[in-house]
Amino acid sequence: MNRTRLQKRWQQLPEAAIRRLQAGQLRRYLGNVVLPFSAHYGRMFREHGLSADSFQTLEDLSRVPFTTKADLLATPEHPQRFKDFILVPDQKVLARRPETIVRALLQGKARVRESFESEFRPVFVTFTTGRSAEPTPFFYTQRDLTHLATAAGRMVEICAARREDRLFNIFPFAPHLAFWFTHYAGTAAGVMTLSSGGGKVMGTDGTIRHLRKFKPEVIIGIPTFMYHLLRQAAEEGVRCENLRQIVLGGEKVNDGLRQKLRDLAAELGAPKVDVLATYGFTEAKQAWSECPFPHDQPSGGYHLHPDLGIMEVIDPKTGAPLPPGQPGELVFTPLDARGSVVLRYRTGDFIDGGLTYEACPHCGRSLPRLVGNISRRSEVKEMAFDKLKGTLVDFNELEHVLDDAPQIGAWQVELRKVNDDPLELDEIILHVQKINGADETQLGRDLSARCFTRLEIHPNRIQFHDTEHIRRLQGVGEVLKEQRLVDHRPAANPLPVKAA
Ligand SMILES: [Zn+2]
Repeated sequence: MNRTRLQKRWQQLPEAAIRRLQAGQLRRYLGNVVLPFSAHYGRMFREHGLSADSFQTLEDLSRVPFTTKADLLATPEHPQRFKDFILVPDQKVLARRPETIVRALLQGKARVRESFESEFRPVFVTFTTGRSAEPTPFFYTQRDLTHLATAAGRMVEICAARREDRLFNIFPFAPHLAFWFTHYAGTAAGVMTLSSGGGKVMGTDGTIRHLRKFKPEVIIGIPTFMYHLLRQAAEEGVRCENLRQIVLGGEKVNDGLRQKLRDLAAELGAPKVDVLATYGFTEAKQAWSECPFPHDQPSGGYHLHPDLGIMEVIDPKTGAPLPPGQPGELVFTPLDARGSVVLRYRTGDFIDGGLTYEACPHCGRSLPRLVGNISRRSEVKEMAFDKLKGTLVDFNELEHVLDDAPQIGAWQVELRKVNDDPLELDEIILHVQKINGADETQLGRDLSARCFTRLEIHPNRIQFHDTEHIRRLQGVGEVLKEQRLVDHRPAANPLPVKAA
């Protein structure tokens, strides 16, 4: 069955049927592809006494131990650990596949070799973009690129972009999923796409020049740069009347930010704009998107591709899979990936509305969806505000406070040590661009109160800056990804020894 028809079918199945199909696909994928060809999982499954036949229902998936980011990182003893996760085919096993024998008879050995090459030879790579850890390469084969294009084409369909639209891709040009996913979205869906490369490649001025000429219906990029771009365009009186959709990726998106972007679009002459979020990560080799929804209703959530992967929501403490509708950590298992493959990958991302199989209230598809807000474990940090005890601060929540505050444009949260002394207490400084002519004293008090209500902390200082200064702080046009949370605390050094 071709993929389009398969996709249409998977879009309308009830939960039980989706789970049954996924379990069958998982069993075949493990038995024919992962276990024979993955050094890491071949070993792991032997150690746990598991085989492909151990997976009769989707519940059996919980027998597979999790894989985390740390498992992929290089160590001194094992500097190329990522290689353990790349599928390396064994020619003898491949030769025994029934379809190999049939194809060799019908089409000849050369065609068989070609098809193995396209299935298993890595031809493309992206990297993880974690703040602290070394980037880890993640490899794609030609087959993975086909799936990437499939998932990307579906994004266009779910976002309800049209073939005659023009798509302006302002993700940073880099070996990262977001840029390439968008590139493939345009080609797969047959939509004219201009990829500017983002602020670092073309600068805000260059990007605005293209915005004027290209007159896109759809703009897709990272929220921070999107905000800068539209704000500056509005200040320069740019008209962008065709704009219908702003699609965001690479950072979390909340309602406050959506509203600010809609307001800016209205200033550009586009009063009816959908602001849609996408969610994806390197290890999934795909991303998922929202469908258009009325502004006064909750989003339908991220529409998953159940034929390409399984998303679980687990209790982050016990690791137990949670039933639909429960908040928890997202765990991903691919169903047809080649190249780099990770099973039950713990993302460190939390979804507060969980997974649902109910038909989407906005588009009617019965694809499984992730609903609610996503937050990142890495953005919960321990801070020392007094000498007695550490305080856990959820910077995901602080982002909400700042994005929701109506008088604030761009912002940055900075963490410092008092007097830059590594042994001193921590402080939080908010750098803020005020908009709508707000009074600084009043806005400072209001922000501090909002922080206390939602997080039980007061920022140590709030500093107001003009647009240009905040752009410099965030590194617009200089860094690949603009910075909204910066940690300037010097690493704690051993106690200084006084010279005798
Ligand atoms: Zn929908």
